[in-house]
Amino acid sequence: MLRLPAFEFHQPSTLEEAFALLGSAAPSVRLVAGGTDLWPNMKRRHQKAETVVSLMKIDELRGIQTTNGNGNGPSLSIGAITLLDDIVRSSEVRERFPALSRATASISSPPLRNMATLGGNLCLDTRCTYYNQTEEWRRSIDYCLKEEGTVCWVAPGSPTCWAHSASDTAPMLAAIEATVVLQSPGELREISVSELFHNDGIEYLTIQPGEVLTRIDLPGSSSAKHCRTAFWKLRRRGSIDFAVLSVAVALWLDGAGTVEKANIVLGAVASRPLAVPNAARALVGQKPNIGAVRNAARAARRAATPMDNTDFKTQWRGLMVERYAEAAMCEAMDLPHQLPSPPHV
Ligand SMILES: Cc1cc2nc3c(=O)[nH]c(=O)nc-3n(C[C@H](O)[C@H](O)[C@H](O)COP(=O)(O)OP(=O)(O)OC[C@H]3O[C@@H](n4cnc5c(N)ncnc54)[C@H](O)[C@@H]3O)c2cc1C
Ligand code: SF4
Repeated sequence: MLRLPAFEFHQPSTLEEAFALLGSAAPSVRLVAGGTDLWPNMKRRHQKAETVVSLMKIDELRGIQTTNGNGNGPSLSIGAITLLDDIVRSSEVRERFPALSRATASISSPPLRNMATLGGNLCLDTRCTYYNQTEEWRRSIDYCLKEEGTVCWVAPGSPTCWAHSASDTAPMLAAIEATVVLQSPGELREISVSELFHNDGIEYLTIQPGEVLTRIDLPGSSSAKHCRTAFWKLRRRGSIDFAVLSVAVALWLDGAGTVEKANIVLGAVASRPLAVPNAARALVGQKPNIGAVRNAARAARRAATPMDNTDFKTQWRGLMVERYAEAAMCEAMDLPHQLPSPPHV
């Protein structure tokens, strides 16, 4: 059995207390929310901390609220420690942001979604076959760049780590142009979900030391009234497994049914959710038609470079980028598609 190392554990009930703990215990301090990513990582000695500060007793970080939006209808504000299961059960999220509801419902299994939070899902560590192993396994082949080593086993000549972003909500939130609020003592930053990530398997977040992700805001202009969305996910089994590929699509059509704006974002093929502007451009100015979708799907395939760091052969995953992108865009455009729909949980 893998055991956690010894560490100091704090459960503050206000953000101010959390900030004080983060400041006093830096640099060997980590935040935890549901712990479904951090605890296994600490057990396998990937991530280390002398002090862990839990956010789960800070009530102001929990809940789903409707807030005043602009002319496009109200926004939805989701506190960072809101459980994934509460998001899946929310009829407001399901009706107004159906593809986000589907992406959230696709995460792991019901027990995990009852522990895990949306903030934790966005900040999820990047993944790689050579990294998500026990300490003994990693030591036996020698550690890699991401943790204590000097070489990348996926691309031995590479000076950077190619571990992939495995969060399912991140590509969907990026596609619908959600924003996150990052707070530190006396400061508050609001950035887009896209800006939350670096394309680097080690330094994958742009969060600064001492900052806490407190809220995720979904704009009214991306709700189902204004925007058509789809989320498709490829994995070996229909549940529990992480994505080896996901495709998030958001389309805004004008009154005549022509695409005015599009966002296509891929998950699990880079160290961050990968936006594909060339795919989006292939759809803009078009009425729903399979020719435009196929052009966009080919652009998505060209942009994605799946690495040999997760399940399935890389070449096949590359092929699947095109097939899944095509199916997701067809779904968002109400066009028939050939792949069976992913299971709706
Ligand atoms: C068997 C299994 C299957 C899984 N399948 C999936 C899957 O299909 N899709 C998927 O996306 N994920 C999956 N996960 C990963 C993980 O469980 C989820 O991503 C979950 O949402 C993480 O949330 P958490 O609250 O438990 O995060 P935690 O483990 O508490 O935290 C994760 C990281 O985020 C940081 N953090 C947490 N909250 C904040 C905050 N508010 N501000 C700043 N930093 C913060 C922590 O310091 C930590 O580094 C799986 C995990 C397991 C064990
Ligand atoms: S991509 Fe390379 S450096 Fe990064 S975790 Fe995998 S083996 Fe390690």
